[in-house]
Amino acid sequence: MRVKVYGDLRAAVLEAVSRDGLVSREIGAENGLSAILAQYVHIECPEYEAARHWGAILDRHEELSRAAERPVTLYAAVADYFASQGTLLPTPYIVDAPVFRSTLQLAMVDSLTGAYNRRYMDTTLRKEYNRCERWGKSLSLCMIDIDNFKRINDTKGHPFGDQVLQRVAAMLSQTIRDEDILCRFGGEEFLVALPETDAEGAMALSSRLRAAVKQDPFLARHGVTFSGGTATYPEIKGVEELIAASDRALYQAKYSGKDCIFQAQPERRQFGRFPYSWTVSVQNEHTREELSDVTTLNVSLGGIQFACGVPYHADMPIHLVFRSEDPETPEFETRSRISWVRKTRSQFLYGARFEESPIPLMVRLQPSTQG
Ligand code: GH3
Ligand code: MG
Ligand code: MG
Repeated sequence: MRVKVYGDLRAAVLEAVSRDGLVSREIGAENGLSAILAQYVHIECPEYEAARHWGAILDRHEELSRAAERPVTLYAAVADYFASQGTLLPTPYIVDAPVFRSTLQLAMVDSLTGAYNRRYMDTTLRKEYNRCERWGKSLSLCMIDIDNFKRINDTKGHPFGDQVLQRVAAMLSQTIRDEDILCRFGGEEFLVALPETDAEGAMALSSRLRAAVKQDPFLARHGVTFSGGTATYPEIKGVEELIAASDRALYQAKYSGKDCIFQAQPERRQFGRFPYSWTVSVQNEHTREELSDVTTLNVSLGGIQFACGVPYHADMPIHLVFRSEDPETPEFETRSRISWVRKTRSQFLYGARFEESPIPLMVRLQPSTQG
């Protein structure tokens, strides 16, 4: 077994590679041993492991050349080494590099739009998240959904819908930076991952994306717009949580009238929630006209959660009247605001936050603090 210091080994590898004359143009002085190995075989490994492989491959190369009484290619030694290892490449298959690359590309990319597919995004996003977490950098996501796309399909046909999807994807991909990752997340939904981008940067990029779609003559002619939701690490932690938060923000954008971007806020659990079913009248903040009569799902000192069939948009000011046994005298009332909306199959789920502290509620929910 070859025992060599790294520098010597690297020089020996480069010499053997250049004798092959096949891949030398793809290998520069800056490449490490693992990168050189990756030119021969589709294996990712750390430098120390690549050094171990290369030492053994060079030994095998000499052995094979001696036995054949002519210099064999380094490929032959690489193939023999990895195939006879048994575990690393149990069933190797030789294919020309350009063919291999296009196969890889097909497995990563959505064929209609040319954006990455969701599987690729899943693995890449996890890597980016870990990298940003390790180096203390931000990472943002922007979830994008084309507005009223079903109508475009219904009125102009599915092939035209496909053209719109391609054009939107092209505009998004032209506008993002090289390090950003665009994927087709679902039918007419795209997800953009923005490494090393904070919440403000994500909103700025999202605005540029909206402008790009609006300025494209073809898309503008057909009135194509999208809504978006952004979410940012470290304010929100975890890959799944980031995706869910950007999706929630996207819903807020949709229910605020579409063609806009919302930024996800980290969930604030400042107040304990109590599972009280309280009858509450949701009223217009000015006219006090009743908009709906709901039963709370839970109540906290900060606000309530309720479900109903009436659509309200995020940030909408409302007036809440908490009913008591006696319909004539409400228990108390308070100025409030819809803070988030989620659509379920049959109705809408809302969080509403109080704009003023409801003292009677404090008495009810936190009796211990009252004495
Ligand atoms: P909203 O503004 O709330 O997002 O409404 P929408 O109509 O865009 O959303 P909805 O989810 O109701 O409809 C999405 C449509 O996208 C339905 C589906 O047929 C269509 N779609 C999904 N994938 C494709 C595709 O690859 N090509 C085409 N042409 N249409 C697709
Ligand atoms: Mg959709
Ligand atoms: Mg849509």
